[in-house]
Amino acid sequence: MSTSSTFPPPPALSSHHSGLPERLAEIGIETKNRLLSKRTLPESVARQQNVPRLPPDTNRVEFDQAIDELKQILGEEHVAVNDKPLVDGWYMEHPNTHDAFHIALQEDLVSSAVVYPGTVGEVQDIVRWANKHKIPIYPISMGRNIGYGGTAPRVSGSVVIDLGKRMNRILNIDAENASCLLEPGVSYFALYEEVQRRKLPLWIDTPDVGGGSVLGNAIDRGVGYTPYGDHFANHCGLEIVLPNGELLRTGMGALPGKDGGDNPTWQSFQPAYGPYSDGIFSQSNFGIVVRMGMWLMPETGHQSYLITFPRDEDFPDIVEIIRPLAQQRILGNIPQLRHVIQELATTARPKSDFYDGIGPIPRDIIREHASSLPVGDVSWVFYGTQYGDAASIATQLDSIRAAFSKIAGAKMLLPGDLPPSHYLQSRVSVCSGVPVLKELDWLNWVPNAAHLFFSPIVPTRGKDAQVVHEIVVRLHAKYGIDLFPTLCVAGREMHYIVNIVYDRSSLDEKRRAAVLMREMIAETAAEGYGEYRTHILFADMVAGTYNWGNNALMRFNETIKDALDPNGILAPGRNGIWPKRFRGKGWEITGTEVEDALEGKGIGPRPDL
Ligand code: ADP
Repeated sequence: MSTSSTFPPPPALSSHHSGLPERLAEIGIETKNRLLSKRTLPESVARQQNVPRLPPDTNRVEFDQAIDELKQILGEEHVAVNDKPLVDGWYMEHPNTHDAFHIALQEDLVSSAVVYPGTVGEVQDIVRWANKHKIPIYPISMGRNIGYGGTAPRVSGSVVIDLGKRMNRILNIDAENASCLLEPGVSYFALYEEVQRRKLPLWIDTPDVGGGSVLGNAIDRGVGYTPYGDHFANHCGLEIVLPNGELLRTGMGALPGKDGGDNPTWQSFQPAYGPYSDGIFSQSNFGIVVRMGMWLMPETGHQSYLITFPRDEDFPDIVEIIRPLAQQRILGNIPQLRHVIQELATTARPKSDFYDGIGPIPRDIIREHASSLPVGDVSWVFYGTQYGDAASIATQLDSIRAAFSKIAGAKMLLPGDLPPSHYLQSRVSVCSGVPVLKELDWLNWVPNAAHLFFSPIVPTRGKDAQVVHEIVVRLHAKYGIDLFPTLCVAGREMHYIVNIVYDRSSLDEKRRAAVLMREMIAETAAEGYGEYRTHILFADMVAGTYNWGNNALMRFNETIKDALDPNGILAPGRNGIWPKRFRGKGWEITGTEVEDALEGKGIGPRPDL
């Protein structure tokens, strides 16, 4: 599809830490134009609420004084008050002022200011400043956590610390150890290009889209698709600024290297000695990670493929076949099982090309269009990749083909069987560590599209998968929303990821998406299934489902939080963990607050109530 260039080209990696590499420049222009040409919302509108949004318990005079002080510490140019109109932008030019994929109102989750530290010492200075003024701070690395809150702080009026803009060095790549040491602003794109530039026989592991921070994604426990796809499991060593401004190194990094250097095994051995503390700095608000070690995978042969299944009812049988294949590690990576509706969405065409009726696209219409697409009129599509030398890949593919042949009509296709534009071709890249943009094509489904993820963990067992699937199907139908399920499958559990795509201009769509999330969280939890990650506005609800033993886990988290962060300045409310200062004061979202916010009631305590 040709698109005439009407928007400025995306920023380039050569001049911008979060930019796009040269090899993707053309695709970036096309993707951006295609997406933004469907926008019906204006680029920005005048702010309705007072600007800037002040931090809680802080008046304008106190705020201005505190900001002046911050400017003196960091330099005027490294502190920006958030008082301009909000611009959602798009993936490569995302804002750091609010949640570009707002599910409540655009202004409901906004910072008061954004600050750009250039050194670890400056991060410590900011933390001490925040303690002095009791102003909440909210660290982001690149801020491409789209679908989970992006760059928005959970408490509006917080000062966002945009770490990536000035702290984006690849501090080391150790080719022999196959590892690297990174600052927060290194994207998958940047790391990949540097490995190529140095001609190292190493792979990085990238999520579906490559613009995120390697460090930020790992501490948020994101996933990718090579055998190193569990990002947190493949990190090795952290350096952290604690909420009191002190600096901590975990793992072998706690043992000083010779002559004041880094420990030579910091990126070699994860737990070191004593309690393994790294875990509490993932999906938490206990520290600001300023350096992280990551393991890289030695490059190897690879073969991506897909397998189609003819009937919707094949679903539990497919899961039953996947389990032993994954447990035996015959499956080479974290494969994905997707429904055929996604064959339509990954064409980058809008829903209206396929269906102009109201409500979710009916199954028979999906069937009709799928028939003319490369995979045909099928139900589920399994995307996998095998690794190793050619002979070993051939043996693995034989085993996989044989296992799935128990389902009548199952059919394996290789990239050569499909056209160059088919989604499988982009999986070849992602599954061999080459970061791309393709996954953004989904966002053409509706105008002004944004998405939210619902991501429960389900045992890799047909009957469990069926229970969650039925809840999800029923509730999507109830709220009239297209269901896009992607199951990232391992041997014992699957991340059942539902991508809820909605039009940001429609309060009704947002409301239905929010109610859908709320009910899916509650209904799946009642069956014993919980989310692995969620948008900041649903964090309290999800955290609330992990309530075994009279909320023992949350009470433990709160004990740590209060000990490390007595002033409650660091990312209050992130992952449902509220410091004492905020706890039980109307900040928690446990009911209809997101829907109410869409009626202009705001997020957070209501002094008028
Ligand atoms: P991405 O990797 O997608 O660009 P972010 O930079 O937004 O993601 O990081 C994901 C989330 O993790 C953020 O919303 C933030 O709450 C948290 N986070 C990111 N970087 C750090 C960091 N260096 N220290 C502590 N928390 C962080």
